Amino acid sequence: MKILVINSGSSSIKYQLLDMEDESVLVSGLVERIGEEKGDLTNKAFPGTDREVVTEIVHPIPDHSTGMRLAIELIVDPDKGVIKDKGEIGAVGHRVVHGGEDFHEPIAITDEVIAAIKANVPLAPLHNPANLDGIRVAMELFPGVPQVAVFDTAFHQTIPPHAYMYALPYELYEKDRVRRYGFHGTSHKFVAGECARLLEKPFGQCNLITVHLGNGCSMTAIKNGRSVDTSLGMTPLEGLVMGTRSGDVDPAIHAFLARNKGMDIDAIDAMLNKDSGLKGLCGMNDMRDIHAAIEQGDEKASLAFNVQTYRNRKYIGAYMAVLGRVDAIVFTAGIGENDTVGRLESTRGLESFGVKIDEVANARRAAGPLKISTDDSTVVVWVIPTNEELAIGRETEHILTRK
Ligand code: ADP
Repeated sequence: MKILVINSGSSSIKYQLLDMEDESVLVSGLVERIGEEKGDLTNKAFPGTDREVVTEIVHPIPDHSTGMRLAIELIVDPDKGVIKDKGEIGAVGHRVVHGGEDFHEPIAITDEVIAAIKANVPLAPLHNPANLDGIRVAMELFPGVPQVAVFDTAFHQTIPPHAYMYALPYELYEKDRVRRYGFHGTSHKFVAGECARLLEKPFGQCNLITVHLGNGCSMTAIKNGRSVDTSLGMTPLEGLVMGTRSGDVDPAIHAFLARNKGMDIDAIDAMLNKDSGLKGLCGMNDMRDIHAAIEQGDEKASLAFNVQTYRNRKYIGAYMAVLGRVDAIVFTAGIGENDTVGRLESTRGLESFGVKIDEVANARRAAGPLKISTDDSTVVVWVIPTNEELAIGRETEHILTRK
């Protein structure tokens, strides 16, 4: 089956056409700057192969519908397209950020599912409407083709109440569903599944700590194959130090800023989401720039790196306590997959907890999974590239073909 995977954001759409027969990527593309004066579409046919064809179109893209139509014109063409006919696309898989408490697994999209995604908009006011745009456009373009929603929150729906409840007045949960949901679930589940395969152990028996460090960062404790705690909360702001997001802060800081600096709640929210994290500490949110600055002796860059890796270490320790026995720690996403020093610092001093990093292995580069712990490390440490599009493709196929 060929599956089109769509990740529709507020001003962008990422898409991939996958051939699930051999899990190859037939097309990978990005529509950017939707709604701005000049939009931008980059379409790669057969990416990464010797047949790769890159097409870039700079064109006004007023809305998601225009963007997706432009992309489909490039993908489907009787002469030049990767596929000759739209009918070759057997299903469309959509990334949906917030499924609230309604979805603990992916689901075929119906009117009721759309209504439930809408009902969760207050929990993800930027993301869910953009995801719904992608669903609407795909339903128009591919009438009758099954559409599946894959939720960032779904994998974390197994977290028990003592880990998902905030110690706030109970009515806030009862009436407004204020609780921890967690995100990046598709990525955590994907790398955890790959790790189980590498450990040659049934997933349902694996205790893992998965560490997703990209622009957004999160960590998940997985017990017997199920998420039992995760660092992102009701929104994707809690927990680890991220590119521009603060992660954990004292909640009293909000009141302090309002009272002493006259900031209103929108300004505080924008500051915590867009101007904090690594960027807040040193002015840069790209880890490669931060390392270059550290080389030049930039003390704030060093501080930002230290604050992030210390927080990572603290959460790894916490999740070791949550799990008791840990089979493996998995690093993934842009920083997790590439930043050798970051991995080293995030696990430093954990030898007495059974975590021993092999510095030579850790310094290696690999396109696929890389084991970076020593042979006598009780906890195996892996670097496993995440692939959210493939994960969405697999989940979509699974939902549609299971009996
Ligand atoms: P997103 O959350 O947007 O999907 P990514 O998973 O692509 O993000 O991760 C982006 C982060 O990965 C950036 O901070 C970037 O600097 C970092 N990164 C990418 N390559 C490297 C590298 N070689 N060394 C260190 N950090 C890297």
